[in-house]
Amino acid sequence: MKKSNKKFIPFAFIFISSILITLGCSVVKKETKSQLECSNYKNCDESLYILPFLLGEKHKVIQGNCAPNKKPWTHYGNLRYAYDFEMPIGTPIIAAYSGTVLFVRDEFTDNDHGKNQGNAIVILQEDGTYALYAHLTHKGSKVKIGQIVKQGDIIALSGNSGESPIPHLHFQVNTCGDFSKCESIPVSFNNVYPKKNILLKDEEYEAKVVK
Ligand SMILES: [Zn+2]
Repeated sequence: MKKSNKKFIPFAFIFISSILITLGCSVVKKETKSQLECSNYKNCDESLYILPFLLGEKHKVIQGNCAPNKKPWTHYGNLRYAYDFEMPIGTPIIAAYSGTVLFVRDEFTDNDHGKNQGNAIVILQEDGTYALYAHLTHKGSKVKIGQIVKQGDIIALSGNSGESPIPHLHFQVNTCGDFSKCESIPVSFNNVYPKKNILLKDEEYEAKVVK
């Protein structure tokens, strides 16, 4: 549930389009005030992102977007469009979108819960945005800085490092590499089931094959 602070260099990118499925994504039916404030999501059918875990797996969102600005919630301010997916330590994490690895930290254990002890990977994505995968397990990185990763590649194993109350993956996308200085941006997933543009807290979502 915690951000990483790191400065990164710009990087040229190649945009790869993806094949989209034709089924419609449902709009959230019961929206709370905070969800409405966070409703500027792409239709998931048009999203170029996939869920950051393997096809066929199902994980529960334990913190969604635009959380209230009070403990124990953390997804507000620059973290407002982050997602927390509950998952056991050691669950494979995949690249939700292609890009180049800019930052890797995996020296902390799953019992290290200090403020700056969250293992993380940052990827500069092909659309020029920055993806953060956080709370990874000890030595759980499967990539190196400078490595090019394709969407769907396994990049890490999940964990419980840093300011994390239970094992989970924190995933967010920002407009710059210094997550303390720029906004996160809304992300939907084109392989999510059940289909939703905004994933909701306490609901489980499965990564389905996109046809
Ligand atoms: Zn989080």
